[in-house]
Amino acid sequence: MSTLVATDLDRTLVHSARAAGPEVPGDVLCLERRRGVSTAMLTRRTAATLVELARRATWVPATTRSVAEFRHLGLVPGIGLGVGPTPRYAVCASGGVLLVDGAPDPVWEARVRELLADGVPVAEAADLFARHLARLAPGTTGPVRDADGVLLVARVADPAADWLDDLAADCGARGWRVATHGAKVHLLPARLDKSVAVAEVRERVAAARLLAAGDSPLDADLLLAADDGVQPADGALHAAGWHAAHVAVTRGVGLAAGEEIAAWLLARASEA
Ligand SMILES: [Mg+2]
Repeated sequence: MSTLVATDLDRTLVHSARAAGPEVPGDVLCLERRRGVSTAMLTRRTAATLVELARRATWVPATTRSVAEFRHLGLVPGIGLGVGPTPRYAVCASGGVLLVDGAPDPVWEARVRELLADGVPVAEAADLFARHLARLAPGTTGPVRDADGVLLVARVADPAADWLDDLAADCGARGWRVATHGAKVHLLPARLDKSVAVAEVRERVAAARLLAAGDSPLDADLLLAADDGVQPADGALHAAGWHAAHVAVTRGVGLAAGEEIAAWLLARASEA
């Protein structure tokens, strides 16, 4: 059976030094460093498992990272750091960009333009976001960043529920939606998420089955769209009490959970 495996990256398969959890046996590979600190690591075992997974199934990284941030990972030429095959497809900006052989896919770009046309333009959504951020205490928010012209993100220290409700209501009236993940608040076109971009890939490769893994509210649609899925025990979704009958939860956390998730996906992808 042809299988598509779509996985989030950060805090699902790769972890920053801060999110790495207890030490794990064996080598740890660093895919990204910022200001001297490891911001994306995985174990050599996870990397080897992903290389094998990519042989048995179509593996699609599906990340909230912008294209530039994704390329920064050094994931291409491969998980496996030059050892494994480069994933043919990758979803960036929570579905806003579909990379095919490393380049943005023009057909998907046109589809995203259609989704964006349901709401106000990105610049208008960014202004609205900035106005809401300005209501918060000085020093508790960061600037609005734009990922690939389709996803807006700002850091907000401890966003209050009523502030988020106000923002969500204003966004909803303009064809946008709000997704929070830790100290990050994201604005996306209302009908865009990772699952719609992954569905596009699934159609293209005619995959009979979809497996997924993810840790955050931005992965919930993807996990729900999958036939089977897995989430880490230390993920934001799990912490929020989110669960689904077809979504397993790891025993371990941090880098160990990354190993478990890769092994879980490989085992499922190897079935029949
Ligand atoms: Mg994540």
